[in-house]
Amino acid sequence: MKILVINSGSSSIKYELFDAEDLEILASGLVEKIGEHGSALNHKTFTKLKETSQYSKQLPIPDHNIALKCILDILLHPEHGVIKDSSQIVAVGHRVVHGGELFHRTTIIDDKVIQAIRENIHLAPLHNPPNLKGIEVAREVFPGAVQVAVFDTAFHHTIPKKAFLYALPLELYEREKIRRYGFHGTSHSYVAEQASRFLDIPPGQLNLITIHLGNGASMAAIQGGKCIDTSMGMTPLEGLVMGTRSGDIDPALPFFLAEHLGMSYDDINELLNKESGLKGLCGTNDMREVIRMRDAGDERASLALEIYCYRIKKYIGAYFAALGRLDAIVFTAGIGENSPEVRERSCSGLGHLGIELDKQRNFSSSGIREINTDTSQVKVLVIPTNEELKIAMETLKALEHTRD
Ligand code: AMP
Repeated sequence: MKILVINSGSSSIKYELFDAEDLEILASGLVEKIGEHGSALNHKTFTKLKETSQYSKQLPIPDHNIALKCILDILLHPEHGVIKDSSQIVAVGHRVVHGGELFHRTTIIDDKVIQAIRENIHLAPLHNPPNLKGIEVAREVFPGAVQVAVFDTAFHHTIPKKAFLYALPLELYEREKIRRYGFHGTSHSYVAEQASRFLDIPPGQLNLITIHLGNGASMAAIQGGKCIDTSMGMTPLEGLVMGTRSGDIDPALPFFLAEHLGMSYDDINELLNKESGLKGLCGTNDMREVIRMRDAGDERASLALEIYCYRIKKYIGAYFAALGRLDAIVFTAGIGENSPEVRERSCSGLGHLGIELDKQRNFSSSGIREINTDTSQVKVLVIPTNEELKIAMETLKALEHTRD
């Protein structure tokens, strides 16, 4: 029995295949440039977590349906495949970005669920349509498999009204569902579970601040295993400084940009989502490059790094206050897992809050690790995230429920 995890984007499908017995990864890959010139399939296989083969091929892939059929073909391939028959795939887990207010947990997909996800498209117009496409083609290509939706927003459904409502006329929430939803929920919940296991403290007794720093970035305040606040909002634009997103700004700025610089709605949308953040401040959204430029004496890169870490530090303070008691801070994702400097700067000067990083431990690498001093009252952990594995775990749980 195998579980296929799919992340379907507008021009790509990422996939991972897991053994349902032990959730060990068997294969992963990416179909990219769907419907474009130069479309290609990149595929890897694994045995006992070690990569055993690689396969890359450019081939015409006009749509998502053909893309998924290519994925099935390579999974069945005599040399690079890992299954003998498509019926071995008993469930397909789909990443769905926005579940709105309707979906609080992982959900088995039927026609009604598809309709409800469609009704949420206006909340995530860039992400939900390609996610939906992935679901529709997976139902055709794997008709015998249980299809499961895992929502990026679901983990945040426990956030109370005082934290999820904006101070706007209340009808805008009641009528239009304008509120904070939060994203990266799969990652925040995965690292929170890992932290509970690592610290040997039950989730119900554990207060955490989880900090997901990838190209997109967000933080969550987790009290007794439940999320009580998060930095992304109605959309992923709010909160931390990100690769290309501004994060928090004065909400009046778009009016100023329109009135004084003559920018259109589309220009402002592009500016805040694609041209701001690290890229806007110093020209690159790649943190490795920002650090390289700063080391070479670039003042804009130095400023970008300072602004980036200062924002994280402010949120640590805010979430510590919201939680009242804090057991651990968890850093995760590309930057959180790999940049000792970002971790150090984000936690610097917080000794009076009981947060003390150990310089040497902070430079240790790989795996789950504790990087605080022995006297620090708050633990500081680095925990590699694995959103695909979490989706596979959720899918397996949903599958087991269907068999109860
Ligand atoms: P993700 O979206 O989780 O893949 O993270 C992407 C971000 O991680 C990019 O900004 C990368 O520059 C950053 N990143 C990856 N490796 C490192 C590293 N060794 N040091 C600093 N940033 C890194």
